[in-house]
Amino acid sequence: MPVPAMSQTNGQLIEVFSSIQGEGLLIGLRQIFVRFALCNLACRYCDTPVDIVDSCRVETAPGSGSFLGVPNPISLDVLAHTVSDWTGRLPGGHHSISITGGEPLMQDRVLQDWLPVLRNLLPIHL
Ligand code: SF4
Repeated sequence: MPVPAMSQTNGQLIEVFSSIQGEGLLIGLRQIFVRFALCNLACRYCDTPVDIVDSCRVETAPGSGSFLGVPNPISLDVLAHTVSDWTGRLPGGHHSISITGGEPLMQDRVLQDWLPVLRNLLPIHL
């Protein structure tokens, strides 16, 4: 699928990978998980890394479990091409994109710019 014109806003991400959703209404469905850095909460049970890191772990192929480091901040161009590549490799295999964190809304400007593009590739769950 062609990727439309890109935003200039870059995002601080922790990881991007393809996996089966393990909880909630979409349990059992494959999603592309985009984990944003930063969180303004401090849940006592938190075991999620949220600090900004030099590079985001991006899976080399959907579900491979193998990752490459991509320097932060990540551009929409890089993310959209990854999603487009994966949906091409697994046609119909991904239900949606899961935007997760951290607290993705801490990068609200990034979401404003990215989501209109990404939702042309797959439905978005935030
Ligand atoms: S990342 Fe999730 S669990 Fe951790 S502090 Fe933020 S909201 Fe709470």
